[in-house]
Amino acid sequence: MVDNDVGGNGGHPGKGAATDQLRRHNLAAVLGHVHLAGPVSRSELVAATGLNRSTIADLIRELASLMLVAEGPGVAAAGPGRPSSLVHVRPEGAVVLAVELTVDSIGVATVGLGGQVYNRVHVARPREDISPEEAANHVTDLGRPLLAALPASHRFLGVGVGVAGIARRSDGFLHLAPNLGWRGAPIGELISGALGIPQPVWVANEADMGALAEHRRGTASGIRNLIYVSGEVGIGAGIIVDGQPLLGAAGYAGEAGHTLVNPAGRPCRCGAVGCWETEAGEAALLRLAGVRTTTTGLRLLKTVADRAALGDSTTLAALAEVGRWLGLGIGNLINLFNPEVVVLGGLYQRFFRYLEEAVVKGMRSQALAAACEDVTIVPSALRRDAVLVGAAELALTPILSDPAGAGRIAPGGPGSRHHLQDAPQGGPTRG
Ligand SMILES: [Zn+2]
Repeated sequence: MVDNDVGGNGGHPGKGAATDQLRRHNLAAVLGHVHLAGPVSRSELVAATGLNRSTIADLIRELASLMLVAEGPGVAAAGPGRPSSLVHVRPEGAVVLAVELTVDSIGVATVGLGGQVYNRVHVARPREDISPEEAANHVTDLGRPLLAALPASHRFLGVGVGVAGIARRSDGFLHLAPNLGWRGAPIGELISGALGIPQPVWVANEADMGALAEHRRGTASGIRNLIYVSGEVGIGAGIIVDGQPLLGAAGYAGEAGHTLVNPAGRPCRCGAVGCWETEAGEAALLRLAGVRTTTTGLRLLKTVADRAALGDSTTLAALAEVGRWLGLGIGNLINLFNPEVVVLGGLYQRFFRYLEEAVVKGMRSQALAAACEDVTIVPSALRRDAVLVGAAELALTPILSDPAGAGRIAPGGPGSRHHLQDAPQGGPTRG
């Protein structure tokens, strides 16, 4: 069990709630650093957290008692002397199931602390309407063998789901997923029911998960202001401002795909006209490229990629036009949020080299000069894994935010929801 007097500032007992809160904060700081940075020496932890050596030692001891970290010999340094001991996470101390639900595919992975991927399955699915119940069953069919393959010593903490829709994190309720044809789907409940697990299921928008992934482990790690723009069938934007995800009151913020960019544009599946995704989404690209839309989306995009690689002028012009609209919309976001980096994911990552010039031009035509001077537009470094990595980080957030609280959940024990920065956010009642 956990000794409440360990850690904090010297470990004096009975200092009350403030001391306990400080100790929990410090535990989270140390675990969070090791989780992202990998094996580190105690000296590096002292430097990274600003805590003194004895406090760090106490915190490591407590995290070790929670089976979240361990200490072992590091790799020998280039110079003389013994290699210093390094603190590293124990991935098995907190394992989650990450899920990505898109219009064209379902991906699942078991991921441990430190981002260790145990197993991963990604399957394409035909682009036809699938009910939320069918999707939950599909996730279960893919996820159950992965969970069953985890040794009993691995502590399963919950599920993180990135979905192409507007999701409420507090209870996994999906308000709207126009491109999946869903409205008002309790997808979190459906997945936990289908899996038959008591652990929590966190559900969030896939672009928000891409942003979280790139912010923690990708091309924008350490960047405090970034926007992740994902192109699938629709367009999503995940926005991180001053290191914190912009979620809105119920987690619905960032639906940039349905902001107006062209009043003379086409009708959108959301009911409006000239939305960003009708001008710069996948359908616009296929229409402009003259690709017949009878096969599934993934195959269609391969056609576009093949033609672009051969230098087909219609295809390249289509990509430039989509890039222009994409850039205009990014210009709007830059004016609103002044990011340092804009990360392009999904379809836009795949076609980045064809889109880049037009995107930058479109962005500069729309964004105020001051705001776009220092911004860089880059492709997602995590590529196809971005949403899964983000979904894993989301589900790991409870233990990262409060290792002592969340860490007491026994393997297979009751899931409990903790208030966090990245995961649960209070929302309105369902309906
Ligand atoms: Zn729309």
